Amino acid sequence: MDSLDRFAAEKLAHIRAAGLYRALAPTARGPGAAATRDGRPLISFSCNDYLNLSLHPEVKARAQAAIDAHGAGSGASRLVTGNHPLLVELEARLARLKGAEDAVVFGSGYLANIGIIPSLVGRGDLILIDELAHNCLYMGAKLSGAETLVFRHNDMDDLEALLHAQRPSHGRAMILTDGVFSMDGDLAPLAAICPLARAHDAWALTDDAHGIGVVGDGRGSSFVSGAKADVPLQMGTLSKAIGSYGGYLCASHAVIDYIRNRARSFIFSTGLPPASAAAAIAALDLIERDPALRAAPLVKARLFTDRLGLPAPQSPIVPIIVGGAAETLAASAALMEKGFLVTGIRPPSVPEGTARLRVTFSAAHADSDVLALADAIAALGLAGQGSLAESA
Ligand SMILES: *Cc1c(COP(=O)(O)O)cnc(C)c1O
Repeated sequence: MDSLDRFAAEKLAHIRAAGLYRALAPTARGPGAAATRDGRPLISFSCNDYLNLSLHPEVKARAQAAIDAHGAGSGASRLVTGNHPLLVELEARLARLKGAEDAVVFGSGYLANIGIIPSLVGRGDLILIDELAHNCLYMGAKLSGAETLVFRHNDMDDLEALLHAQRPSHGRAMILTDGVFSMDGDLAPLAAICPLARAHDAWALTDDAHGIGVVGDGRGSSFVSGAKADVPLQMGTLSKAIGSYGGYLCASHAVIDYIRNRARSFIFSTGLPPASAAAAIAALDLIERDPALRAAPLVKARLFTDRLGLPAPQSPIVPIIVGGAAETLAASAALMEKGFLVTGIRPPSVPEGTARLRVTFSAAHADSDVLALADAIAALGLAGQGSLAESA
């Protein structure tokens, strides 16, 4: 074996020994919340397609029509010839939904964050980031070269203390947080973060990957408390509730124009295919015209938490903390035996000792399946945040 293969094999052995090996399992989706794995029909509670729009007939038809009219790929970077009119329309629609002056669409949410953050801050600047923020916010911070300090999850005292101590000795500053936390389902306290950010001249960026379409009446985490939170940088993805693919940033005209001129992952990456843009626009149409649709995932999540005596959910993501990686995999396997696909989430996706079942709810779930899953989890004796034990 040469040194390269030996390196990979040794690393893999360590990953396996820690119970953290991950294998890709081919999974076919649909219809509805159904999924097929290893030839086996399951009800999936592990999908981020919260409104099931990736399978919606209208979304599929408009993506197909875009392929017929414009082809499968976009052919170049947006700044060369890849700026399809559908992308221009999509950006206008996103800006309107998010109450922003303008928007820019990237190839994915991950590409958005690793492009936006290094465009705005660099050496000598400061980033304050929530400890549970998504990996791509951390990677964007790392690429920027700015000094990056972590504040305790949703802890405004910690954030304020760091701003007081560190802000004066740095040039520009950003505060990075998920709007809806991807592995915990809770919301960032934007009503507290935004005034703090303004007071210290720090630019707040929310990653709303799990917010758009499902919280704040479909407009995302900035709109949860009625009035729009003062977030100058609202980023997100088109690959979850929007049911397509791609990432975006909504901000002022000046900021968006600047990002189009500076973000490396925008400039040096090919534009989104026309079909992805058309699908996203169709999804935004459906979200805007159907209040019951955009409310549905949270209604299903509430049915589940009520059944288990858990606190009311703030989003369609409900974690059932198990603790160890091996126990989590065992719980996931036991649920699969009963016909439910609930993927176990292990470090490094979540902090050590907090491996969990991450249960996500979609508009496509039948109430009877939601209740059956809750009963199956209760039968496994998984207390989920301790509250099941209290209510028993
Ligand atoms: C999924 C996710 C991303 C990445 O978005 P993609 O479009 O899938 O690259 C970014 N941030 C958060 C919080 C996510 O959950």
